[in-house]
Amino acid sequence: MRACIHRGSRQIGGSCVEIEQDGQRILLDLGLPLDADNNESRYLPDVTGLDGSDACLLGVLVSHPHLDHFGLLAHISKNIPVGMGTAARRILATAAPFLPGNWPIPAPGWDYQSGQTFNVGTFRITPFLVDHSAYDAYGLLIESGGKRLFYSGDFRAHGRKAVLFARLVAKAPANVDALLVEGSSLGRLNDDQQFPAERDIELQLVQIFSATGGLALVHTSAQNIDRIVSILRASKRTGRKLVIDLYTAAILEATGNKNIPQSGWPDVALFIPQAQRLQIKKNALFELLKRHSSNRMYIEQLQQAPKKSTLLFRPLHRFDLERGKCLAEATYIYSQWEGYWENGSYDTTKDWLERHGIPKYSIHTSGHASPVDLKKFVAAIAPRKVVPIHSFKPERYSEMFDNVEAHNDGEWWEI
Ligand SMILES: [Zn+2]
Repeated sequence: MRACIHRGSRQIGGSCVEIEQDGQRILLDLGLPLDADNNESRYLPDVTGLDGSDACLLGVLVSHPHLDHFGLLAHISKNIPVGMGTAARRILATAAPFLPGNWPIPAPGWDYQSGQTFNVGTFRITPFLVDHSAYDAYGLLIESGGKRLFYSGDFRAHGRKAVLFARLVAKAPANVDALLVEGSSLGRLNDDQQFPAERDIELQLVQIFSATGGLALVHTSAQNIDRIVSILRASKRTGRKLVIDLYTAAILEATGNKNIPQSGWPDVALFIPQAQRLQIKKNALFELLKRHSSNRMYIEQLQQAPKKSTLLFRPLHRFDLERGKCLAEATYIYSQWEGYWENGSYDTTKDWLERHGIPKYSIHTSGHASPVDLKKFVAAIAPRKVVPIHSFKPERYSEMFDNVEAHNDGEWWEI
């Protein structure tokens, strides 16, 4: 078996690894680079057969539903099968009508079940469910030609599914020849530092919600399910209802997990902003709306009970909140990657907050393992070689792990 990292040997985002054995090939992830202006085909890596013309390209195995791991699926032939988690696949299909741009709907293929091995041509694939800020995320064990490769995908040990990390470390796959392991936290944290746990995020939210006399606006991704759980728990602890829109309601339903907050729960309410009404009309989402309307609320109710409400904020809410005069004593909590704020993605929201004198707080934690947890992970798998991926600091690997063998983008190497 041999491998080529097409993108990711010295950057975070846009990951793509090609694996070859006996002339058969698979891809691990096909991500959009984080610094891409738009989702365009010019970012596609140099892989033969992405137009569906080469039967030797058997498929794409996606680790998890983050754009920097699957985004470029938008530009490949629909005849190339795509593997991913069952819930992840549902989430992506559900999100499509609500999101702008080239939002890819993956072609049918393999639906992962954690620990259940399946074959793709000459390759035996075993997915391992991991703790990450994307729902239904996996590490992948690839076996072929008597060799074993483990691809970590993105993972952490401080989320609400930290038990998955503990389990994987306790029963790690043995005899791994090559471990492709992400290193997002290298260069961001010192070797002994930890990110806040998702439970700490809940406590920080409780503090801000308690001190807020009006509406609490929390700006996060509807697809960060762990975070939505934290926001709902903090809301309940401070006597607030969690107000979501139809996009969020649909994503929560698409998890297929009844333990995840749902629009019909007593502490959750549905509010449809005006911009979303247009999306509902345009895409004829009337059935979806009906299904999630048991706790529907309108702007008047939000206006009357701001201190009893937490709004899962998206920039499209600005006009409704302004018109409905819901903003007295409101607080805004930014709860996602700081990079989006810094690169100007939310400048109009920033201006809007300033105009209304709304204070901004940042409460967030990373979706990625700290250096301490990366060390535990690598020690548990004890691979014959460790190959850096998904890191801006690949040179740090040899200071942290034994048997590091770094490879450049575009270089083929034997596993
Ligand atoms: Zn990710």
